[in-house]
Parts: sequence; structure tokens; C-alpha cells
Amino acid sequence: MNHDLREQPVLLGLRDFSVSYGPVEAVHRIDIEVRQGEIVTVIGPNGAGKTTLLCAAMGLLPSRGEITFDGVPIKRCTVEKMVAKSVALVPEKRELFGEMSVRDNLLLGGFSLWRKGQRDQSQRMREVFAIFPRLEERATQLASTLSGGERQMLAIGRALMARPRLLMLDEPSLGLAPRIVREVLQVVASLRDHGVSVLLVEQNARAALKVADRAYVLESGNVALSGAARDLLHDQRIIDTYLGAAGAHA
Ligand code: ATP
Repeated sequence: MNHDLREQPVLLGLRDFSVSYGPVEAVHRIDIEVRQGEIVTVIGPNGAGKTTLLCAAMGLLPSRGEITFDGVPIKRCTVEKMVAKSVALVPEKRELFGEMSVRDNLLLGGFSLWRKGQRDQSQRMREVFAIFPRLEERATQLASTLSGGERQMLAIGRALMARPRLLMLDEPSLGLAPRIVREVLQVVASLRDHGVSVLLVEQNARAALKVADRAYVLESGNVALSGAARDLLHDQRIIDTYLGAAGAHA
């Protein structure tokens, strides 16, 4: 991990954080934090609770424990509160409007700021196009006609239109060819330079660990391991379970 980042204040803090579906607890009393300017990844197998964790941190599911943003506890977390705190979630299904153009999908992403009187959406769109030049080339094309990688870029670009301070991404690599995964995740890593912190949930452990500063390994709703992403890439347990040729999730 970059040493400077350890000095940064905690942007999102989850403490003693649990999430249940009825009587079944999917996330058990975990502690996770994302510091300002950090890219933090949560890796783990199918059903480990990664999506559940993101949805609860966004206020889409009820949770127990403490959520803080910028050091301030958020009581009864809701989506509205998290959006107001400049948190954005790109869900696994991406949820684009297929029958709308790339440009219009982006404009919708900036709607919450527009409603608050921030009418600089053209400037924000230029910033998104600078990050994803491919989207500018495809600006008038319908979202449904984009390739998988371009769709993922549009989903991230749309979230960036709201100028988030924290971007939460649920499996952006899903369904993408390895070369495209690298391309998308490299852009995710570059968001740091735009002042965006990232919480990245991934099953593709190797790709995620390569771009992240820090990582948590979630197994059956518990944090089994955490540390600098670079160290986990060389950790024998991680190599055996998630990265090695025999690893089910390599
Ligand atoms: P994947 O990578 O497969 O999406 P995940 O790590 O994101 O896995 P979750 O989808 O968060 O895992 O699921 C965690 C656990 O919660 C699983 O046991 C799952 O079956 C359960 N679960 C998820 N959604 C629901 C739901 N709506 N109702 C009941 N149980 C659920």
C-alpha cells in the first residue's frame, strides 16, 4: 500500500457491520474501511456476501453496526443519505437504459446534481469522456449496441457524472474478456487521480489485487484476511485458494 494513503482520513468506515436476510446472517460483524484516495477491494468466492455488503453500505439493505462517512456516523442508512454524501454504486447488472444513447445515459447519471442546481453537466461529461474516450466516440449510439466492456465503462461513467467521492463497484470484470478487464480496472485505478476513492468487489482476485491498495478477503460473511493488496498477491493462502492454477477462482 502507498504509505501516504495510511495517513489519509477514513472516508467510509463499517464497524461491527452485519447484514441478514430474515434469520440468515450473510455478513457477520465485519470491520472495513476505505481511506480517502484509496482503492480497496473485497474479494471472495460466490456467496461470500460481497454484493450484500455493498448493497447494505449503500443503504439498499438494512444492516446492524456502525457506518461512518467522513468520520460522521450515519444513523439508519438509506440510499438518499448515501447519495447525498456523494457515494455511488455501480451494480453488477449495470442497469443501463438500452434504448437510450450513451450521452443520455450519462446525463441521467448527473440528474441528482442537476436537480440541486448544478448545471455544469457538459463539463462533467467532458471529464467522463476524457477518462473514457471510447464513450465519446459512441456518444450517439444506443447503450444496447455497446460491447460488454463499453457497457461497463458507460455504467462507471454514468456514476462519475454525479461526481462521487466514493465509487462502489460490484464485479466490474464480470463477463468481460481478460484484456478488457485489464483496461477497465486500469481506468478504475486512475480514478484516484480524480479524487475518487473506490470500493471494488471482485471475484477476479488477481485482477483486483493488481489495481487495489488494500484488500479484504470475505469468506462466508467473515473477513478471513486483510492487508496490502501487493502482499496478498504473494500470500500462499491466497495463491492456493484464489490465484493458483488449482484455485477455483483463478
Ligand atoms: P456472488 O459473487 O455469487 O454474487 P456474493 O459474495 O456477492 O456472491 P451475496 O450475493 O452477497 O454473495 O450472497 C451472500 C449470501 O446471502 C449467500 O448465501 C446468498 O445465498 C444469500 N442471499 C443473497 N441474496 C439473498 C436474498 N435476497 N435473500 C436471501 N438470501 C440471500
